[in-house]
Amino acid sequence: MNLVWLRNDLRLDDNPALANACQQGHQVQVIYTACAQQWEEHHEAGVKISFWQQALIDCQLKLSQLGIPLIIIRCSTFQSLPEQLIKHCQRYKVTDIHFNDEYAVNEMKRDESVVRELSNVNIRCHRYQADLLVTDPLFNQQGLPYRVFTPWYRSWIKKLSGIALTPLGRPQPVDQPLSGKLGSIAIRKDANFREDLFPATEQEASNRLQKFMTQRLAHYQEQRDIPSLNATSTLSPYLSSGLISARRCVYEVQQFSLLHELDWRADPWIRQLGWREFYRYLMIHFPRLSMNRAFLVKTESITWESNEAHTLAWQQGMTGFPIIDAGMRQMARTGWMHNRLRMLCASFYTKLMLSDWREGERFFMRSLIDGDFASNNGGWQWCASTGCDASPWFRIFNPTTQSQKFDTDGSFIRKMVPELKDLDNRSIHAPTPDLRSKYDYPEPILDYSVSRQRALDRFKSALK
Ligand code: FAD
Repeated sequence: MNLVWLRNDLRLDDNPALANACQQGHQVQVIYTACAQQWEEHHEAGVKISFWQQALIDCQLKLSQLGIPLIIIRCSTFQSLPEQLIKHCQRYKVTDIHFNDEYAVNEMKRDESVVRELSNVNIRCHRYQADLLVTDPLFNQQGLPYRVFTPWYRSWIKKLSGIALTPLGRPQPVDQPLSGKLGSIAIRKDANFREDLFPATEQEASNRLQKFMTQRLAHYQEQRDIPSLNATSTLSPYLSSGLISARRCVYEVQQFSLLHELDWRADPWIRQLGWREFYRYLMIHFPRLSMNRAFLVKTESITWESNEAHTLAWQQGMTGFPIIDAGMRQMARTGWMHNRLRMLCASFYTKLMLSDWREGERFFMRSLIDGDFASNNGGWQWCASTGCDASPWFRIFNPTTQSQKFDTDGSFIRKMVPELKDLDNRSIHAPTPDLRSKYDYPEPILDYSVSRQRALDRFKSALK
């Protein structure tokens, strides 16, 4: 009996652990470990947990058609896992267990202890790399890990060009199918989970990719920063929870580019997948990132402000800056936020409110359906100028001019902040006091110029 342990790879397609188990085992069983207390400690959002639940139901059905049962094992924390896995393996006479690696510190420690404990009772562990496109180590000319995206990206794309990226496809039915009733999967259903916007199936992920390539990829570069346009792939929840692999995405773009005589290596969308992998690379090479630490150690001396009323206003989308409120309300309503708005909201929080990036990072993680430790931490540290290859500390977005630039006609604000829907295209970005009072919209919680200067002074004195 071969056992597959699913984690952030909730798919049948291009899943090395599943493909290899099916090749090696006459009988295959799949497990998923639901660790509620661990999720809480990792600030996993309720909407994301509901997304997993739906994805598991989909996986269970598809696996049963191959003669493979999917069983949920409940446990509280990672510490209790090895013992429970051993019990499960002994009960079902499992000889081999297969899983795809995860790279955050706690997950790596968990896997090391599982491998150790299982090998003590003669159960073989087979580990695969499914989340990274390039698994060979990449180092700069001094033999050290890269700290800047562009040179890393150059060497990454070069490596990628030399690798056959053909995905593994779905496994065939196993020799000795295991039947049995499908056990119920009821983990938690969050009231805010928008199943209509993010149906959690592999088919949906594949449809999104095809639709994106055929309808939006060509305009991605010009339109990707405009929140009112549906110009990005919205694949992030599917990539974060592994309903589709990054390799499948790149492979499909390669095929599409070949057909249309385009150079996939110069594609701006592939570059974004590069950012995803760069943040994973950093997490592997700089484990302190998984320990609440800033990449730039010097920035740890910055004294952050703490203003509960301002934090609450930011969280609730009531800062009085329409574009910031639109972004925060989009996240509250859908579990997803456009990238440009993530940058603006995180910059507002860390620079203008001068609040600790870790608290903002946590709030995003608790709210996002695509919450992904590496990308979220990378994004927050980039905005706070505490990270690797981050935005320079003196770059402080002006929410009003950014709003005029990226939501010129105010249509995104109108959608997310409906109390401002009747304002004209000019005043919607910074309503006058009269308009605010007429439409019951709050006064700005801060003065941009004063707050900007405070942030410049604080960063300057910490980094001198
Ligand atoms: P597309 O534009 O279609 O890009 C395709 C894929 O590339 C995305 O699905 C994502 O996997 C990856 N990607 C795109 N941009 C980035 C980026 N800047 N960094 C890393 N990967 C990227 N992304 C997450 O997946 N989870 C998070 O928790 C997360 N938190 C963020 C927090 C902040 C403060 C910032 C600034 C960015 C964060 N991002 C996060 C990155 C980015 O905002 C989202 O990946 C993107 O908005 C998802 O939309 P999409 O799928 O339509 O992206």
